[in-house]
Amino acid sequence: MHEFAPYAVSSANSRGRRVQEESPSGRSEFQRDRDRIIHSTAFRRLEYKTQVFVNHEGDLFRTRLTHSLEVAQIGRSVARNLHLNEDLVEAIALAHDLGHTPFGHAGQDALNDCMKSHGGFEHNLQSLRVVDVLEERYGSFDGLNLCFETREGILKHCAKKNARKLGDVGERFLTNQRPSLEAQLANLADEIAYNNHDVDDGLRSGLIAQEQLEQVSIFSRHLAMVRKLYPEISGRRLIHETVRRMINTLVADLIRQSAASIAAARLEGLPAVRMAPLLIGFSEKVRLEQQELKKFLRDHLYRHYQVARMSNKARHTIEMLFNAFSSDARLLPPEHQLKYQQDGHQAIADYIAGMTDRYAIREYRRLFAIEES
Ligand code: MG
Repeated sequence: MHEFAPYAVSSANSRGRRVQEESPSGRSEFQRDRDRIIHSTAFRRLEYKTQVFVNHEGDLFRTRLTHSLEVAQIGRSVARNLHLNEDLVEAIALAHDLGHTPFGHAGQDALNDCMKSHGGFEHNLQSLRVVDVLEERYGSFDGLNLCFETREGILKHCAKKNARKLGDVGERFLTNQRPSLEAQLANLADEIAYNNHDVDDGLRSGLIAQEQLEQVSIFSRHLAMVRKLYPEISGRRLIHETVRRMINTLVADLIRQSAASIAAARLEGLPAVRMAPLLIGFSEKVRLEQQELKKFLRDHLYRHYQVARMSNKARHTIEMLFNAFSSDARLLPPEHQLKYQQDGHQAIADYIAGMTDRYAIREYRRLFAIEES
């Protein structure tokens, strides 16, 4: 195992679990967290949840599962270089999207609108709810009983009104403190992963063209490098060689810049991390390039009319499901009816958020198509 920096999170300086458990043998507390996440039901469902493209649109696009694995891979490499806790970064990365609804952001926005008068719906908060409450696997507690630092990393954003109800893990949103460096890192690994795989999937789907992307500086300068090295290269191979270089540049820049910021902050230990500004980040040049790429993806991919049409169907499906269940809870499967009696509309949101894309599509048919049962 690589050696941890004094400001890294470790089993020794962890704030521990909500329910005390014996220390694991043969693995660290954070390896145990990662293992619990991998064995959870919500994790398996990520395979059939949309990132940008709806699950049935093609077999080659990223799903939330492959996205989460890419985030973990990028996060682990950077963590090792910075002497941070690789297992914690991996655990956060694998869990960060567990609370996502079916149909990506369109699904999330629709469910948030449906829940407006019942406290709203935030996918970050829902990811925490999955690991704290919804997973039913253990005899002595609900959820997975993960360590504080894993839970803190999962809760990337949180509105103040919600943070007040969360106790320890919500505190930093009220006191304006930073999370661990591992949590900061998982967040940026997420950004590296989705920007690059959305370029790849966007090109593969034909929704964006290579010529359009050539206006974006980070893409065009890596494309030029590849062409110089391989004058004959074209097609998928050209794209892959370009995208992998973009990822390399971003990872190397993140390591270099973060190491410099950490050194300059003269951190004595983990508590100092919480008081310091955000220390994991890109250099200014690369940060601006990332912004440019993000804007390009927003304008040309996420707002593409074909994506908009699919998002519209997704919204319609979520709204119809929600309205049906909230006007008559007897339409819910029996176990969810019981939860509805306890948690009200939150139980409907939990049921819908837990659905995979294809389950939601099927459930819609079962409710509204007269020939289905
Ligand atoms: Mg993500």
